[in-house]
Amino acid sequence: TEREQGMKSSLKTDYMMGTIVKMKVYASQPEKIIKKSFKIMDNLEQKMSLNIKGSEVKEINKLAGQKAVKISDATYQVIKKGLEYAKLSQGAFDPTIGPLVELWGIGTKEAQIPTQKEIANKLKLVDYSKLKLVPQKKKVLLTKDNMKLNLGANAKGYAADKVVQFWKAKGVKSGFISLGGNVSVLGTKPDGSLWKVGIQDPKEPRGNVMAIVEVKGKTVVTSGNYERYFMKDGVRYHHILNPKTGRPTRKRIISATIVTDNLSSLDADTLSTTVYVLGVKKGLELINKLPGVGALVITRNNKVYMTANLKDEVKIIKKDKYKVV
Ligand code: ADP
Ligand code: MG
Ligand code: MG
Repeated sequence: TEREQGMKSSLKTDYMMGTIVKMKVYASQPEKIIKKSFKIMDNLEQKMSLNIKGSEVKEINKLAGQKAVKISDATYQVIKKGLEYAKLSQGAFDPTIGPLVELWGIGTKEAQIPTQKEIANKLKLVDYSKLKLVPQKKKVLLTKDNMKLNLGANAKGYAADKVVQFWKAKGVKSGFISLGGNVSVLGTKPDGSLWKVGIQDPKEPRGNVMAIVEVKGKTVVTSGNYERYFMKDGVRYHHILNPKTGRPTRKRIISATIVTDNLSSLDADTLSTTVYVLGVKKGLELINKLPGVGALVITRNNKVYMTANLKDEVKIIKKDKYKVV
């Protein structure tokens, strides 16, 4: 048992990066590891948050149309990944979505349904081809006035990667981190059994899962319409926006989960949002081109689309409600 191996565990929950963060590690000094892990996350939030004065992202946005900004490697990697998937998805994913996110304010007290004119105005500012990176200098420039980056779709994935990397460097063999819809697990549980990661039932209150993914050493990342939204006249206005229409996506998808150990959690987080916006057909086409990556997509009418490589790992719990097609 773990106790016989001199192994202790520590479990801690905190609020960070706009979401609930839960971590557990098995180690000889688990509290110390967890404490440092939250420190790492806090540090990344200071750089990438739009709510923190003086963050690197705020600086880039402030100097849009004026000046390239030198940033940390961390922020640079997150932006670079966003641009990569923007190109790959022809703009379904777009890190320059900032002006639209701000306009809708979904998840804030200022949430509203904007007018078509307001949306059209902001749409002119959303264009990843006008985001310029200077790799040698780790500089970033938004080439048009009033453009705005928003890293909400993939900064959490990067944070999960950094925490797990830290654990590995410390010789930790077993642990998990869960932040919002992002989960990364290190190794197996100490007894050698697989970690069980729940996939939220998108139609039930938080904590109700519709499936379990059994994994070791993987990342499992979900984007869902239940994370942040408001209701108006029976319509759910959620936080994943279609950069073409400037509105919350209205395709069939209500939840998209990426499972992988071949790509980083940064990739998986970027991909979960990308697949969500692309829709079932194009989204799964993209995933099927990426080796070692699985996806599970749930639609409004309770259909589940799953890539073949997840057959053994995923157990659907609510079989009567959700039908795998
Ligand atoms: P969560 O915020 O629950 O982790 P996602 O990873 O899917 O969910 O990210 C959603 C967030 O990404 C939004 O809150 C917004 O900040 C940003 N976003 C919304 N639409 C897009 C898009 N099409 N491309 C890139 N980022 C987006
Ligand atoms: Mg996310
Ligand atoms: Mg995402």
